[in-house]
Amino acid sequence: MSTLAESLDVAKIRLEFPVLERHASSGEPLVYFDNAASTQRPVSVIEAMNDCYRHYYSNVHRGIHTLSEESTQAYENARQTTCDFLNASSVSEVIFTAGTTAGINTVARSWGDANLRQDDVILLLISEHHANIVPWHQLAARTGCRVEFVPIDDNFLISDEVVGEYLNRHRPRLFAFGAASNTLGSEYPVERWTAMAHQAGATVLVDAAQAAPHWAIDVQSWDADFVVFSGHKVCGPTGIGVLYGKRAILESMPPFLGGGGMISLVTIDGFTTHELPEKFEAGTPPIVEAIGLQAALKYLQDLGMDRIHEHEKQLGARCDQGLRAIPGVRIIGPDAEFKGGINSFVIEGVHAHDVSQFLDSRGVAVRAGHHCTMPLHDAVGITASARASCYLYNTDEEVDQFLQAVEDVRAKFA
Ligand code: PLP
Repeated sequence: MSTLAESLDVAKIRLEFPVLERHASSGEPLVYFDNAASTQRPVSVIEAMNDCYRHYYSNVHRGIHTLSEESTQAYENARQTTCDFLNASSVSEVIFTAGTTAGINTVARSWGDANLRQDDVILLLISEHHANIVPWHQLAARTGCRVEFVPIDDNFLISDEVVGEYLNRHRPRLFAFGAASNTLGSEYPVERWTAMAHQAGATVLVDAAQAAPHWAIDVQSWDADFVVFSGHKVCGPTGIGVLYGKRAILESMPPFLGGGGMISLVTIDGFTTHELPEKFEAGTPPIVEAIGLQAALKYLQDLGMDRIHEHEKQLGARCDQGLRAIPGVRIIGPDAEFKGGINSFVIEGVHAHDVSQFLDSRGVAVRAGHHCTMPLHDAVGITASARASCYLYNTDEEVDQFLQAVEDVRAKFA
């Protein structure tokens, strides 16, 4: 059967990721299944950054000299590519940040402080990453607003009905949710939930940290007010992320960080702010990281987001099916049809750290712990899980190497 996934040439792709040539100390090939924490980079990203440092690096926006003009041009080109990647209507809506966490904190400090008051509600999902919980707890401490959570059901799912019920019950000022859960692997209907939240009068922030790497984002059809993601999860560099915001909302918000770059005038009495997007980019921005991010986004788009998604869904389903067949293994997540390439699991009687350590000795890199989702782990009644997360360069053979190693964990510890 011919599938979209077959048209992703994984053997060729793997040659573009030098780190995948590594072997474990046992001699087995490295299986990198920690992609939900951070992906690897292709040579094109490494070279784009290297090229900047070697040939034209300078600070941006400030110098009237050739290197500064070239760097500024490259930095702004990266913004245009990011704008296209998101299908945003204007580059003014694309702000470079340090990552998803920085993007959410910017919204919490700027929009949140200006708009939320005592007893206002911020609605989140119980599956949120701490990056989309803690800034709201901090905002609650500053303003007296409160945070409420939409629960998961026994199948780790969240239905439209439950989201609707919580929106109606709490009438939140903000609904902030992850497009996909970094622990459950669940992929949520962003467009639908955003429309429901708007209907209920809420502003919407979408944490796309686990969506941007995997499927095509169209912020105009999503219609969310804010969307955030990180460079290092889309095969790009660390230290850069993106905050998209609708222009009118960004214009109404006060700047968060103050300093160089975000002003148009400073006097001994005060300052006036620069226009978007510089208003939210105080200080020297992540210049070379933006150039690396641009190469990464182009790389993903050239491969095709649909093909990437299809491929990792197929790998995720193979992991899911294999894990469910191993006695004593429990998957912390819904059935494969509701998720992408992420599978979190526990093995009866074996701590997740032991699972991870054993898998590492067999060449398989997985994450162990709470994956920055402690409220979710609490809700499920566990403290830790192991997480295998596949990406575009992973193969069926790697899934099988991983499953064999999990079976061997059972034999060794259980
Ligand atoms: N949100 C989700 C869903 C994530 O998976 C992560 C990272 O694991 C984050 C937010 C935080 O991203 P960063 O550490 O790049 O700011």
